[in-house]
Amino acid sequence: MIGSVALRSGSSGNCTLIRNGETRIIVDCGINGKTFTGALALAGESPLDIDGILITHEHSDHVSGLGVILRKYKIPFYITEKTLELIFDHIGKFDPDLLNIIKPEEEFSIKDQLVRSFKVPHDAAETLAYRFVTPRGDITVCTDIGSVDQVILDQIIGSRLIILESNYDWQLLKNGPYPRILKDRISNGHGHLSNDQCGETLCHLVEKGTEQIVLAHLSKENNHPSIAELTTVQSLDNIGAIQDKDYVLQVAKRYSNSDWMQI
Ligand SMILES: [Zn+2]
Ligand SMILES: [Zn+2]
Repeated sequence: MIGSVALRSGSSGNCTLIRNGETRIIVDCGINGKTFTGALALAGESPLDIDGILITHEHSDHVSGLGVILRKYKIPFYITEKTLELIFDHIGKFDPDLLNIIKPEEEFSIKDQLVRSFKVPHDAAETLAYRFVTPRGDITVCTDIGSVDQVILDQIIGSRLIILESNYDWQLLKNGPYPRILKDRISNGHGHLSNDQCGETLCHLVEKGTEQIVLAHLSKENNHPSIAELTTVQSLDNIGAIQDKDYVLQVAKRYSNSDWMQI
């Protein structure tokens, strides 16, 4: 069984499970221990069987539960030096044997799972996205990404399943309640990916074989699941790709498990 399920997604907490046979990996740990255990149980998994936790960056919606979960379940975690420095004082004590320092753009393996990491533009010290190479095609988790250039496109293209940020609707952000400085921070290329940018990126991906899409990390204030979905479906429609024929799509949920996607 190879696939993924988003356990939580959005600014209130991010956590995604990747499963490849007997290897189980978590990307980000922005939920508390109770939610983590409950979400895994709903997915038919136990925290005791998780082989590794990969951290993308230091923002609290990606790391808030890490310390507690490391202490409770002794799961090895993978993080860059820069990101670790920034969270070190907040996560509390952990067994140093659990720590694995990774470098961006380097490949590493967790049991038989090959993982490729790559840097993405975001307003954090060093934000990573992860691509999981599997015999049935690749799974990529790519959220908190301000823009997608050719270099990033090259890193994600060919993924069979992609979990991609579709953070905000441009009109809702523009007309919404956020102060101008925050609106600029979100949309300046180092913040978050808009629905339009997500749809445009997915056109390149679906043209090159991506079949399964999870729209992730939606803004609560500046987006709505139906708007995010419609934007991407319309973008893909423009290149002749039809939902449920050429690709399947779901929007990751904020407060509950999304559907399991098997490749
Ligand atoms: Zn985030
Ligand atoms: Zn972030």
